Amino acid sequence: MTAQIISGKNISAQLRERLKDEVDAMRNTHPNFKPGLVVLQVGDREDSNLYISMKLKAAAEIGINAVHVKLPQTATENEIMSRVHEINENSSVHGLIVQLPLDSIHTINTERVVNAVAPEKDVDGLTSINAGKLARGDIGDCFIPCTPKGCMELIKQTGVPLAGKRAVVIGRSKIVGAPMHDLLLWNHATVTTCHSKTADLPSEVGMADILVTAIGKPEMVRGDWLKKGAVVIDCGINTVPDSNRPSGKKVVGDVHFDSAKDQAAFITPVPGGVGPMTVAMLMENTVLSAKQFLQAKEPGKWNIS
Ligand code: NAP
Repeated sequence: MTAQIISGKNISAQLRERLKDEVDAMRNTHPNFKPGLVVLQVGDREDSNLYISMKLKAAAEIGINAVHVKLPQTATENEIMSRVHEINENSSVHGLIVQLPLDSIHTINTERVVNAVAPEKDVDGLTSINAGKLARGDIGDCFIPCTPKGCMELIKQTGVPLAGKRAVVIGRSKIVGAPMHDLLLWNHATVTTCHSKTADLPSEVGMADILVTAIGKPEMVRGDWLKKGAVVIDCGINTVPDSNRPSGKKVVGDVHFDSAKDQAAFITPVPGGVGPMTVAMLMENTVLSAKQFLQAKEPGKWNIS
C-alpha cells in the first residue's frame, strides 16, 4: 500500500478562498476597513525576496492590504527597532512580521527585534509572550507560528485523531520544531522532540504514529525508519543539485519521499505540502488579528474563531 498524499497546495487554496470570503464580509459591514499586514525586511536576501513576494501575492488575492517595508543592509538595530515601534503604533496595521534572517552589515540582536513586535500584531507568533502562552497550553489566546499551525491543519485533514498517539518532532527551532511540539502536546499527543544530539534517531522515529520533520537535511529520514501507517509531515525545504533540470537544482524535503511513501499512511510532498500552508496560515492569523481589532472596537459584533 502506498501513502495517501496530503496536498497542502489544495488545502491552502481552499483556506485562502474562505479567508477572502471573510474579508469580503468584513468590508460589507465596514467599507473603509481592510486587514493590514506589514512585512519588514532588512537587506536583500534572494530567498527572503521570494518568500515575501509569495506573502504579498496571497495577501492581495484575499483583500489584505500588505505593505513591504524594506530597510537597507546598513540599517542599525536602533533604526530597525524604531521602525517596529512606529508600525506597532499604526492602527491600520493588524499584523507585523519581521522577515528572518535579518540581512544587515551590523550585528543585530534578532531576539530583541522580534520581541519588539506588539504581541497583538505578532501574526508570526514569535514573540516570547505568544510562544510562552503556547508552551503553557493557552492555545486559544495566542498567535501560533504559521508553519506548525499549517502542519496541524494537514494532520487534521487526515482524520487521524491525535489524542493518545505518539508524535515525534525532529527539530527544536523557535519557528518550527518547538512550537510544533507544544501544539501536538496540547492536542493530547504524547510527544518526543529530537535534535542533533538525539542518540538514536531511527529508533525514536520508529515509535511515531505522527512524524513532523523540521531539520533542513535533504532526505535524511529514510522509509525503513518509519512505523508502518505513520502520518508524515515534512517541513524541510532543501535545494539539491539535479542535472536533469534546466535550473540544475531541485527542492526536496527532510524525508526520503520514495521510500517513505511505501511505509506511511499519509505523507506531505515537497514542494506542495507544508510550504503553501505556511503562507495561508499567515493570512489566517492576519485576518484573525483584524477581527480581534474590530471586536475590541465593537464588542459582541464579531464571532472570533
Ligand atoms: P533550524 O533552525 O536550522 O533547526 C533545525 C533543527 O534540526 C535543530 O533543532 C537541529 O538540532 C535539528 N537537527 C539538525 N541536524 C540534525 C540531525 N542530524 N539529527 C537530528 N536533528 C537535527 O531550521 P528551521 O528553521 O527549524 O527549519 C527546518 C527546515 O524547515 C528547513 O529545511 C527549513 O527550510 C524548513 N522550513 C520550512 C518552512 C515552510 O514554510 N515549509 C518554514 C520554516 C522552515 P539542534 O537544535 O540540536 O541544532
